[in-house]
Amino acid sequence: MKRVKNVQKKLNDYKIDALLVTNMYNVRYLANFTGTTGLAVITKEKAYFVTDFRYTEQAAEQAEGFEIVKNEGPIYEEVAKIIEKDQINTIGFEEENITFATYKKIEELFPSELKAISGLVEKLREVKSEAEIEIIQKAVDIAEKAYDYILGFIKPGMTEIEVANELDFYMRKHGATGVSFDTIVASGVRSAMPHGVASEKVIEEGDMVTIDFGCYYEGYASDMTRTFAVGDPGEELKEIYEIVKEANLKVTAAAKAGMTGAELDAVARDYISEHGYGEAFGHTTGHGLGLEVHEGPAISFRNENKLVENNVITNEPGIYIPGLGGVRIEDDLVIKEDGNINLMSTSKELTIL
Ligand code: ZN
Ligand code: ZN
Repeated sequence: MKRVKNVQKKLNDYKIDALLVTNMYNVRYLANFTGTTGLAVITKEKAYFVTDFRYTEQAAEQAEGFEIVKNEGPIYEEVAKIIEKDQINTIGFEEENITFATYKKIEELFPSELKAISGLVEKLREVKSEAEIEIIQKAVDIAEKAYDYILGFIKPGMTEIEVANELDFYMRKHGATGVSFDTIVASGVRSAMPHGVASEKVIEEGDMVTIDFGCYYEGYASDMTRTFAVGDPGEELKEIYEIVKEANLKVTAAAKAGMTGAELDAVARDYISEHGYGEAFGHTTGHGLGLEVHEGPAISFRNENKLVENNVITNEPGIYIPGLGGVRIEDDLVIKEDGNINLMSTSKELTIL
């Protein structure tokens, strides 16, 4: 209920009497609900969980402190009744999550004012509890074990898809409930594509291979990237590898509470730029990680907000040269007052298989 209370404390700041929570990650965060249909209404005094007959029993078990409301008809009609009963004047809705069609529907149904709200629950989610960090560590552990395994599995002549499927299956076999996103296996010139999901391309001798992947464990995601070589990749890629590795190490050495996302991004970007590859580092240095694989805070030149203790972020600088290949190295860090804890221990030295 602490999470619900944190939302209730924010309602006045947003000038709303209640918040309609429809983003399922936020629903899970607040109500501990793992089902797929349901929503929460948080008023200043109460918390309602509305769902249909398929989930009322599960919700009663999981959503501690919530009043469970079963919707017999359309779910928003039930919300309208709550608004009426509790005399809610203004209800906030999550604007990134409500479709235009739903908006038109609730505008007609609700006897209250509607107010578009962005990021209220997401902002709370950015600061993890010790229990959440422990779960993320387990998701990281599964990913690291899978990476170790896959290094022994890969042979020239296999396709990227074969490698990705083996990796995904290994993670599931070791406790993951799913993958954080479609596993990226990008080899040879394809490694110059920062988000090249696994293809039919055959891995060849001399290829740099970037694997970016992660898994879900108890609702939380891990996110890891390593680049390695199958045979000698040549001098330029080896040089690029060392620059990316150094950029990654510098971010880990610098990251702590009180720095802004932009300041931390600059640690990697300035180093890569000094070595002449600034243009080849086209994405941000990192992102928050939790119930979603991409959440706040952004480690980006656009983020002027300060990092705080127990943000969990990724550290993933990269260099990509079209026609040649690319390198990315990604760890997951927990921000602390005086530094950070790296949840990953896999070596960052260049592995040549
Ligand atoms: Zn990643
Ligand atoms: Zn990432």
